[in-house]
Amino acid sequence: MARTRQQTSAPSPVGLAAAEPADIQRLVEELDSMLSRLRLGAIREQLDGLLEEAAQRQLNLRETLAWLCAAEVASKEQRRLSMAMTIARFPFVRTLEGFEFEAQPSIDPGKIRDLGTCRWVANGDNMVLLGPPGVGKTHLEVALGREAVARGYTVQFTTAMELLGALVKAQQQGTLEMRLAQYAKPKLLIIDELGYLPLEPQAGHLFFQLISRRYEQGSVLISSNRPVEEWDEVFGDQVVAAAILDRLMHHSHVVTIRGDSYRLREKRRAGLFRPPAGGSSLAGIGGVPPPMPAKES
Ligand code: ADP
Ligand code: MG
Repeated sequence: MARTRQQTSAPSPVGLAAAEPADIQRLVEELDSMLSRLRLGAIREQLDGLLEEAAQRQLNLRETLAWLCAAEVASKEQRRLSMAMTIARFPFVRTLEGFEFEAQPSIDPGKIRDLGTCRWVANGDNMVLLGPPGVGKTHLEVALGREAVARGYTVQFTTAMELLGALVKAQQQGTLEMRLAQYAKPKLLIIDELGYLPLEPQAGHLFFQLISRRYEQGSVLISSNRPVEEWDEVFGDQVVAAAILDRLMHHSHVVTIRGDSYRLREKRRAGLFRPPAGGSSLAGIGGVPPPMPAKES
């Protein structure tokens, strides 16, 4: 098919050596369709502007070609990024740069920035983010997830409720295998808000199946408002919780945030209410030590 099309277009490169001005003119007329055929959409759309700028900068032919290619590469990368971000299904846009570390002194900025390099994702390690509501767990999950997307990893964001709801439903409909395969696929699976709502009785077993399947294959980033010591209550089964934690924690980075809700802090700043006497009203998980030393990396 490509051959047929080629025959209909202007002189072959060999023929070009002896091209007359009229042949060149015909080539120029076909430039638009040639750029489309080569899928060089950015060059096609911005050609006049790019050539004008190249002329203003007095670029030679080779430099101009590099200038055009750079525009195409940038546009393709932008498209890839925006598609991957859409596929990841982040609930909102948050970045590491937008995280105020001063507001959460219990977090080591160096450790988070190191996790931001995504070496742990490359290694298939896991990450567990613990802390009371409003301290920035989802913010950090999204920010780290975006860093992973930017580095070319496939990422999927979901909540524990959504994930387990989908697995329970799939089990009832006989499509569990398909669902598990789907959740096993992304290089990084982010599971937000484990422990906020009670789970169905079979949820622990299904979660275990998923974690086993991803074990040492792809990374899981999971956040919870409950310390891991309470996960047997979360899953309603001590044995299942221990088996899940065994795999999840084997190669894992644990970050425990102790502190006040950022949301309430903002409101307090705005004078909407006073801080509670004697410090945080949301101590909760704040006083619980991390379950295991985070892995040195
Ligand atoms: P959590 O998931 O722990 O309940 P979120 O990540 O949803 O908390 O944080 C609540 C809101 O506060 C979000 O809009 C988040 O971007 C913001 N936020 C939380 N902590 C910080 C922080 N340290 N710096 C900047 N914004 C923050
Ligand atoms: Mg959250």
